[in-house]
Amino acid sequence: MTHEKTKSFYNWEEVKGHIKTGVPTLYHSSQTSTVIPFENLSLELQASTVLGNLSTIKGHLEFTKENNLLVTGFVTWKEAKEFCRSQGREIMTSPTEELAGVLAGIATSCTGERSFGFKNLRSQIVELHYIDFEGIEKKLLADKKLVLPIDLSFYQKDFAPYKNFKNAPYPRLEVETDLMTGTEGQLGIITSAVLKTIPYEEETYLFLLLPKWEEDFEPHLEIFNAVQSFRNQIRAVEFIDSNSLSYLPAEKNPGKNQDVVFLELRSSDFEMIYENLLEKLTLVSSENIFEMASGKCRDLRVSVPRAIFEVNSRMGVTKKGTDVQVSADNFRELLKFYKSYTLLGVKYNLFGHFGDAHLHFNFMPTKDQNDFCNHELERLYTEVLKWHGSPFAEHGIGLLKKKFIAPFYHDNERIVFRGLKKIFDPKGQFFPEGFMSC
Ligand SMILES: Cc1cc2nc3c(=O)[nH]c(=O)nc-3n(C[C@H](O)[C@H](O)[C@H](O)COP(=O)(O)OP(=O)(O)OC[C@H]3O[C@@H](n4cnc5c(N)ncnc54)[C@H](O)[C@@H]3O)c2cc1C
Repeated sequence: MTHEKTKSFYNWEEVKGHIKTGVPTLYHSSQTSTVIPFENLSLELQASTVLGNLSTIKGHLEFTKENNLLVTGFVTWKEAKEFCRSQGREIMTSPTEELAGVLAGIATSCTGERSFGFKNLRSQIVELHYIDFEGIEKKLLADKKLVLPIDLSFYQKDFAPYKNFKNAPYPRLEVETDLMTGTEGQLGIITSAVLKTIPYEEETYLFLLLPKWEEDFEPHLEIFNAVQSFRNQIRAVEFIDSNSLSYLPAEKNPGKNQDVVFLELRSSDFEMIYENLLEKLTLVSSENIFEMASGKCRDLRVSVPRAIFEVNSRMGVTKKGTDVQVSADNFRELLKFYKSYTLLGVKYNLFGHFGDAHLHFNFMPTKDQNDFCNHELERLYTEVLKWHGSPFAEHGIGLLKKKFIAPFYHDNERIVFRGLKKIFDPKGQFFPEGFMSC
């Protein structure tokens, strides 16, 4: 059932006016979040909460004199990418769902394929503007330390094991722009952002066909270990297993009941990567390595999660997927754990950001397997907590992951969340049901 109270905004003045009323609101843009069930919010949101649409606010793109990209209003990643390309430049973040909004991407601290080479979106933000609880627009800078009347020292100590993850179980809270990065719209509404860009360089996509990971993941691990020394040359190292590929029409499937790992690299680095990395692999033969055109690769990459989403919608179930990133040392353990899932008699598939040890395992349950899968996911999160892994490294917490994230929060985190809400959302109007209420 769709949520009854909805409101669309056409400019920021309307948003400011609405904020001044103090009405609790879940602001949204493209609604591609996989952790907010927009199609059925009535059970998840308080009856008084309004669903506020920001995707109706006209977007604008321009370059600053430092060649950074200024994004204002509703702009999709696709539009931002095309605009940069038209000026011979590139943005460094590339989420698979390109129709998602850039500003929403900051709110969810979205990541994607290129985090392997370019780190997370947080590191590419220069400046942000947001509207605060009084309806006043404010500026945040990435090169200014975050100063708050809250003691963050214990929070930062808890954060330390997660420093190298794309997203930790809780926001970084180190520099000013972190206030809006990954806080999922709970502290204010982002109106514009300045993002770093780089000059565009032609890319090459290389596909490696592998045996099914459920049968033998040693070739996969050999690639994983080998690519780690080439982060300056390789931009993305992605994985799609044979089960995920089976949802595609046969002509789109590059393998025959095989998994694929694909690499995105600068074309100028192709020979170096071939000689120093690919030729040295002992478990992947050269006849299983080939090049694919970028458009075809992109199409393949987007088609897989969309096809999976459609299958689940047809079954009337919400996806039971993981978003776990672990350290390189625990990657074998994670694969072993996922392998144990393949023996449960529930359909499944695995894909994701392989080079970062960040894989989405998806159960494809029937309606009566739903609770069983939830229980199995809880078992995984218990292990992830022990491994000091990140349970939700890119899709955020939203509403659906709240119960799973709760064990990752301790008094130190809850005290900071309460403090932030008191300062930045004293009326409790910014997505009051979000993870800070855990
Ligand atoms: C097929 C598929 C593939 C995906 N691949 C990726 C991926 O590779 N990487 C990734 O990170 N995610 C991915 N996602 C998840 C999703 O696309 C991201 O979470 C995305 O950032 C959500 O953007 P949106 O515009 O749809 O936001 P919405 O779903 O509309 O909103 C998401 C959240 O952002 C907040 N928000 C939105 N706009 C603002 C604003 N202006 N100010 C403050 N808060 C705001 C909302 O309150 C909400 O909490 C994928 C989703 C799908 C369906």
